[in-house]
Amino acid sequence: MGKTRQQSDKQRAEQVDPRAGASAVTPSTGLAADCVEALRLAVGREPDAATAYERYLALATAIRGRQLGAWLDTESRRRQAGTKRVHYLSLEFLVGRSLQNAVLNLDLEDAARDGVHALGVVLEDLYEAEHDAALGNGGLGRLAACFLDALATQGYPAVGHGIRYEYGMFRQEIRDGAQVERPDNWLYRGNPWELSRPDERVQVHFGGHVEYATDAGGGLSVRWLPAASLWAVPYITLVPGWRNGVSNPLVLWEAVSGDDFNLAYFNDGDYIRAVEDQARDETISKVLYPGDASAAGKALRLKQQYFFVAAALARILNEHLAEGGAPATLPERVAIHLNDTHPVVAVPELMRLLLDVHGLGWDAAWDITTRTFAYTNHTLMPEALERWDVGLFGSLLPRHLDLCNEINRRFLDEVARRWPGDAGRIERLSIFEGFGADQRIRMANLAIVGSHSVNGVAELHSALLKRDLFSDFHTLWPDKLRNVTNGVTQRRWLRQANPALARLITDAIGERWVTDLEALAELAPLADDAAFREAWWDIKRLNVRVLAHQLAAAAGGPASVPSGVPTGAPAGAPKGVALDPDSLFDVQVKRIHEYKRQLMNLLRVLAQYLRIKDAPNGDWTPRTVLMAGKAAPGYWAAKQIIRLACDIGRCIDTDPQVRPWLRLVFVPNYGVSLAERIFPASDLSEQISTAGTEASGTGNMKFALNGALTIGTLDGANIEIAEAVGRENIFIFGLTEPEVAALRNSGYRPRDFYEGNAELRRVLDLVASGALSPGDPDRYAGLVHELLAYDPYLVLADFADYLEAQDAAADCFRDPQRWTAMAIRNVAAMGRFSSDRSVRDYAEGIWGMAPLT
Ligand SMILES: *Cc1c(COP(=O)(O)O)cnc(C)c1O
Repeated sequence: MGKTRQQSDKQRAEQVDPRAGASAVTPSTGLAADCVEALRLAVGREPDAATAYERYLALATAIRGRQLGAWLDTESRRRQAGTKRVHYLSLEFLVGRSLQNAVLNLDLEDAARDGVHALGVVLEDLYEAEHDAALGNGGLGRLAACFLDALATQGYPAVGHGIRYEYGMFRQEIRDGAQVERPDNWLYRGNPWELSRPDERVQVHFGGHVEYATDAGGGLSVRWLPAASLWAVPYITLVPGWRNGVSNPLVLWEAVSGDDFNLAYFNDGDYIRAVEDQARDETISKVLYPGDASAAGKALRLKQQYFFVAAALARILNEHLAEGGAPATLPERVAIHLNDTHPVVAVPELMRLLLDVHGLGWDAAWDITTRTFAYTNHTLMPEALERWDVGLFGSLLPRHLDLCNEINRRFLDEVARRWPGDAGRIERLSIFEGFGADQRIRMANLAIVGSHSVNGVAELHSALLKRDLFSDFHTLWPDKLRNVTNGVTQRRWLRQANPALARLITDAIGERWVTDLEALAELAPLADDAAFREAWWDIKRLNVRVLAHQLAAAAGGPASVPSGVPTGAPAGAPKGVALDPDSLFDVQVKRIHEYKRQLMNLLRVLAQYLRIKDAPNGDWTPRTVLMAGKAAPGYWAAKQIIRLACDIGRCIDTDPQVRPWLRLVFVPNYGVSLAERIFPASDLSEQISTAGTEASGTGNMKFALNGALTIGTLDGANIEIAEAVGRENIFIFGLTEPEVAALRNSGYRPRDFYEGNAELRRVLDLVASGALSPGDPDRYAGLVHELLAYDPYLVLADFADYLEAQDAAADCFRDPQRWTAMAIRNVAAMGRFSSDRSVRDYAEGIWGMAPLT
């Protein structure tokens, strides 16, 4: 049905002459007519009086109607065929904007162009009117969004479950060269994509105590008497597949106070107190935690986790039963995926529902639970492993704490039977750690025990999980741990974000790559075709020009620039100092983290700065280094890195000797919309984490897909990218994971590297000297001291090798023919880094699912 509707839209659109003036067009059918109708009857505005935002609302409303139709079709097909469905539980979905994605996926571009023409505006202006849905921190949340796109595109029935945060990821401003966090009030003008379903609200309980009694039959009867209850209200956003008539729901839950809960206060006349309590309940879905590593220890965070998990499981089970299923058949019809440990409280929650609500016995309930859940680990960083304080956990979820204890008791009995007397092993495998007031629940251990599958997100990461973090579990259950390498959706990250390159590729090899990325392999021979290389190079330079223009405009450049990016003014780019679009655009964009080593990048910029100062008439390869990313608000070292980047950028900008050859620009407010502009305009992709620290990375894939060459360490998915593109088409440097481990074990002394490398010494001395921050000369004393004394991420050890790789990249860039041939070979090798492949791996290997036929 979706298909025929789309086709008829196209045909109707053709009947509307786009060259006619807006007032001459009186569309009576199709998307154009629906837009005008939505503007008048849904927004309440005459077309000639509407603002750009109102026109955006009208187009979005018209398109949402089509998505709803596709969703109903998808649902009825699923029910008729009895197809298994996956529920993806994630505390984050970093979706970004939806309008352009919907227009392209539904094949409505021509119709939408005519539709908005009838409203008297340009389609691109409406795309820009939309606010990013930034309901995630970084890679983990963006992965969830790419997976939803890939699931719908391949016709897998799937539901995302998360929180409808009122405030998403903070907006980053740079003031006086430092990060300032501003609230992201993304819903203040409404959200045309979501559909609220208040009648499908679910009650969620907290606190109180548990009563155990023996029932008439001699069995155990359990009653949780919670102290507080509130409502979870679902909001549904539809995720369209690529031109296949499929639409899957993303269900985001909002916390709403239970309406009869505070009756006692009302009766006592304490109206204000009652309203205050209501406001407190509703803080649960108020704001996304902006730390991408961990927010453990925060009661509100645990409440958020249980809140959306309880709502999701209630809905999943209700739907399963309403469709004629029984609790025992849940794993045949439903797979539930746990994106990191954030939703792992789902394990005791499903046990509670099966035992206490549906009256199953323990063994049956446990069998259903473990066959239903699968878990993905996203990090090896110990500080990111969630551990909940038992006191806090028990006060909010007393029944769940009891269940965790029972799960652990039975699990450790099994361990003790297999390794009698092995107390150390039992201690390591236990779901609990510590004693007394310090006792904590290890959510990763709970996840592994409660799931039938545990996966890492790149080959190296999964191997390290088996070898180190989860080695005891791997010994116990050798088949449970596996790998699914991450991927990204080429629909958003190439077809949508880089239309010029997408067109060049499609003209050369057809459009199959949009739904089958392996088709890009057909580009490989074109690396040897001079005309194709020239066209490719021209597109990259054009994209760079567009980005440079937008950054200049955002920084207060020419006022004539159309409503472009302005995601913020780049720090350190004074008005009128334009970026050189023919320079090597060298880019590191990602969350700011010590392990990602933005600091190493900054130190090599300083090394280059000093080289140019030493020989200002040298034949340097001009470079523009872009950096962007948010620091967690409480992460001091990360914020220092941003300050240093801004200080270095300013020093270079005010130095006319260096400025023609080297620039450093920190671009504020990195997010999906900015990323969509940066990847297509990048020449060099900085993927320089310490080997063994980055689980996978997905930014690395998006850069390479857009024809950037990678300079990187053998870490995360960089290893698989290097394998795919060939070592001659990538700039690999630095210590490998075993070398990192060996250096640490032998007692790493960063000072030896400082003393042994004169260039490194000059750079660090410059940072420590205070010359970069004349008003605050001690600003970086602590940072340099930490590096010389500890350097936990081996910046100094990899520095020399990094500089050599940078020199090789600069030399290569001077030969555009060679550079472009390498870029084409990179893109040709990106087939396996599609989220379509990732999702297929999960469906076939973990969820046991087939697509709709
Ligand atoms: C892809 C992406 C990330 C992840 O980047 P990494 O380099 O893999 O850390 C983070 N944020 C946004 C907005 C992204 O698009």
